[in-house]
Amino acid sequence: MYQLLGITKVEFKTIEQVLLEAIHPDDMLQLYQAKEEALLQGKKVDVEHRIVRPDNSIRFVHTIGEVSFDKERNPVLFSGTMQDITKRKQEELQMQQLNADLEKRAEELKASNTELEHFAYVASHDLQEPLRMVTSFLALLKKRHQNEFDETSEKFIQFAVDGAERMKGLIQDLLKYSRVGSANEPFTSVDLNTVISDIRQVYAQALTENAGVLMAGNLPVVSGHKVQLYQLFQNLVGNALKYHSAKCPIIEIGCSEKEEEWEFSVKDNGMGIDPRYFDKIFIIFQRLHNKNEYTGTGIGLAICKKIVERHDGRIWVDSHSGHGSTFYFTLRKMEHDAGNTDFTG
Ligand code: ADP
Repeated sequence: MYQLLGITKVEFKTIEQVLLEAIHPDDMLQLYQAKEEALLQGKKVDVEHRIVRPDNSIRFVHTIGEVSFDKERNPVLFSGTMQDITKRKQEELQMQQLNADLEKRAEELKASNTELEHFAYVASHDLQEPLRMVTSFLALLKKRHQNEFDETSEKFIQFAVDGAERMKGLIQDLLKYSRVGSANEPFTSVDLNTVISDIRQVYAQALTENAGVLMAGNLPVVSGHKVQLYQLFQNLVGNALKYHSAKCPIIEIGCSEKEEEWEFSVKDNGMGIDPRYFDKIFIIFQRLHNKNEYTGTGIGLAICKKIVERHDGRIWVDSHSGHGSTFYFTLRKMEHDAGNTDFTG
């Protein structure tokens, strides 16, 4: 007690007086109430509070004890302990502060994300109108003065038309991207087998032309946004077909059950991806090929990432150049799915 209270034996008066002097003023009421309850109702004292030592340093202590009474119910003795819990309390406070800071950061991030999404939507929406003007006046110019242009001027006009076309594609993709997540429609039960049969129809012609095969096992029903889940599989299967190698494309859609989620895979035998670019390809407008080699703007995988994250999942890729790629993503399981195991690709 001497050590705890920071006093010497000489200074020690009665315990009550020592405590009275040491208890932090803000915790006085709490202890007074505990004392009253102990005396009047015979309750045990169990309080965490602060004490102020003579050097003004503050310690956190845990005081426990109880009052013993004689036969006439007069209090005769208080016995208990006081334990220094400053270290634990400081850690708790630090943890609370850290959690509060984290929550604040998460809120800020959410707000800035929403703002960015709104900005992307407004910017791309509003850019469409002036672009339409550029495109239509270019077309008018071409039509009216076609015979007056020499070869170079004609080339320049064509460059401008191509540029405007590309910009139109980028703006439309940006709009598509910013719309993922802005729709506040509730999640519903989505049978992924029906999603895959729709995808099969969409790519039927491309599969036939390339002598390709799309294989899928039995897939689960998940809770999600049907249009977005469709878009997710469509982008991944579309890429698997687009970036095929000299071999006939073989695409396998699989699913394995983990403790709390389903892990899906879309595997191809295409050209593969250099591991150096595994992160880059999920960033908006980042491509590994230019527009003359393969059509596209580099939005597909960014949209996939956004959709998966909106469904509380993760997406990643595993591949080696020339040896095909496998895109993996996770989706939460519906509660009644525990025990369903037979899902293979
Ligand atoms: P895009 O197809 O319009 O370029 P994506 O975001 O869908 O946009 O893909 C980004 C890049 O990732 C592509 O340019 C391509 O280089 C690479 N990629 C995506 N899927 C595959 C795949 N299945 N096989 C090989 N490369 C791929």
